[in-house]
Amino acid sequence: MVARVIDGLAAAKEIRQECKARVNKLVQSGIRPGLAVILVGNDPASAVYVKNKIRACDEVGVHSLQFKFPSDIAEEAVLKKIEELNRDPQVHGILVQLPLPRHFDLSRILLTISPEKDVDGFHLYNVGGLVVGNTVFPPCTPFGVLKLLQSNNIKIEGQNVVVVGASNIVGKPMALMLMQQDATVCICHAKTRDLAQFTILADILVVAAGRPNLIVPQMVKTGAVVIDVGINRLSSGELVGDVDFAGVSEKASYITPVPGGVGPMTVTMLIYNTVASAERVFASGE
Ligand code: NAP
Repeated sequence: MVARVIDGLAAAKEIRQECKARVNKLVQSGIRPGLAVILVGNDPASAVYVKNKIRACDEVGVHSLQFKFPSDIAEEAVLKKIEELNRDPQVHGILVQLPLPRHFDLSRILLTISPEKDVDGFHLYNVGGLVVGNTVFPPCTPFGVLKLLQSNNIKIEGQNVVVVGASNIVGKPMALMLMQQDATVCICHAKTRDLAQFTILADILVVAAGRPNLIVPQMVKTGAVVIDVGINRLSSGELVGDVDFAGVSEKASYITPVPGGVGPMTVTMLIYNTVASAERVFASGE
């Protein structure tokens, strides 16, 4: 069997075009969706992520605002900015780029963002909403994976899903979202004994561990759908996922490449959530 490669770039492009049309409609009604991005410190990777997010906003016509703070800024100053943005009617989404410097209390920062503007989906209200199945904003990376599965007409209901990785931003929300699609879900993590005995049962295997080559062909069931969320930079400079792409491609029915799979969907779903937020405001007549 040779797997079909899921093209994340093409799927992301399609969703961005759809977002652009929705933005145009909102603009005609007098609302331009707005995303505020807060960046603290000089982490080069974070600066690149923020740049990509701003570029994606420009591409679909979402107004973006950037607030940069030095790494030694007091937490109170950032909290004050978030509160200001919560009140700003031109801002429909607020994002604080992670990681934050050590002296920050992350949970306090996330709790200060209004749940109605929490387009990253990390506020406790939205996390709780995920558990009961009515979150305001699904977190972007797992939301992107769900969209990729759906746009490729991959059946989720009744399937055995194994999620490798249990982080708050990828693994756990991914598992909850697929459970809500009526899959039978198992979550594995670093302390899971004999990972292969779980992964081999998966009809859909989602891997988000940040470990290159963690998943090799003998751990994958023939015909499985394999979604590789991992992004790892090797010492050679090459960017790879967590899955042995060449080997597993010979066994899986579908597979996502790295780069060009889940990655492009993450930023796209952030824009999608921001547009949805502006539509919600418009519909409520506020
Ligand atoms: P994280 O916070 O470091 O969490 C990694 C998870 O993987 C943890 O739950 C950890 O288990 C588990 N894990 C680590 N080694 C393992 C092993 N050998 N076997 C089984 N499980 C293992 O990372 P994250 O933020 O979720 O990100 C995961 C990967 O996805 C990273 O490569 C990251 O760069 C990538 N990522 C990609 C996108 C995208 O847009 N494509 C977005 C976000 C993240 P414990 O809980 O037991 O420690």
